[in-house]
Amino acid sequence: MPTTESRQLIVLGSGAAGLTAAIYAARANLQPLVFEGVQPGGQLTITSEVENFPGFREAVLGPVLMTEMRAQAERFGTEFVQAQVDSVNLNARPFELHADGKRYLTEALIVATGASAKLLGLPSEAKLMGHGVSACATCDGFFFRGKRVMVVGGGDTAMEEATFLTKFAAHVTIVHRREEFRASKIMQERARANAKISFLYNREIVDIHDAAKGTVTGVRLRDTNGGAEEDVEIDGVFMGIGHQPNSALFQGQLELHPNGYIKTHEGTKTSVEGIFAAGDVQDFVYRQAITAAGSGCMAAIDAERWLEARTHGAAHRKVTSA
Ligand code: NDP
Repeated sequence: MPTTESRQLIVLGSGAAGLTAAIYAARANLQPLVFEGVQPGGQLTITSEVENFPGFREAVLGPVLMTEMRAQAERFGTEFVQAQVDSVNLNARPFELHADGKRYLTEALIVATGASAKLLGLPSEAKLMGHGVSACATCDGFFFRGKRVMVVGGGDTAMEEATFLTKFAAHVTIVHRREEFRASKIMQERARANAKISFLYNREIVDIHDAAKGTVTGVRLRDTNGGAEEDVEIDGVFMGIGHQPNSALFQGQLELHPNGYIKTHEGTKTSVEGIFAAGDVQDFVYRQAITAAGSGCMAAIDAERWLEARTHGAAHRKVTSA
């Protein structure tokens, strides 16, 4: 039988949503336990400068912001587990979680597991990931000093990654499958004004060379209008094609949208009473650090009220039945 730990509230995820939930829950005396997951600090730890988080006149570095949030949560009594939950049973009460061979029971649960970068799904992409293929310019840009790289996508992520990469790369080509970008005007303008960035429209990558050599030497592009294919030499490929929610653990146990994001109603309530979802695992509209933090705060307040109502409900039932 594995060791069991019982809690009032567990938070899954340590990004802006999870840590804000922890700060609020800890200040409400709920002594939350936070599972940090595979990427402690979440997606902000792999961004560089955050210019739009209120309270910072000058940009704040993503990792610095997350270190501060974590310390703030810890200051009020949050405990952290450096592990990922492998399975959950949300039909049981208290809810049951398993991580690193240990069993955790919790009355209430806040899911803030975030989202991860989407990939193209090519076999060569998987083989060359970390060997010239990346989904994080701020993590890997440094390795492409003086090289030619491609960035795939037409949203803000692609524009941001491309602009950031010009700090290192000799040249950056943004490859987009259509003619129009969905990126915001300001991000597009920034990329267009950068002499090191050029654009390839109506093209998709159908193969990345050279998996046999274990390094990126080029890509095969397909014209999305006519289907013609051509090989282009390149030293690196960055995927900037959006994100997918980290909700696989909850499939079949919580109601999800068709795109995999967790469904919430009346604030952060999920389809199971006592479970709340916050941040990028439930938000496919705003996806900002500040909205993630805001919904983390909402989830903690929702969880606190739910726990409180249950306790009072139970006390009331005891009194009336006495
Ligand atoms: P988006 O969903 O906005 O854009 C994804 C892009 O990738 C689209 O252009 C899409 O093409 C393309 N794409 C998707 N799948 C594929 C595929 N399989 N092959 C080729 N191309 C593909 O995601 P983002 O991550 O860019 O942005 C998400 C949200 O985060 C937005 O709200 C954005 O504003 C925000 N954001 C803000 C930033 C900031 O303010 N600093 C920085 C980064 C993101 P198509 O257009 O044809 O669908």
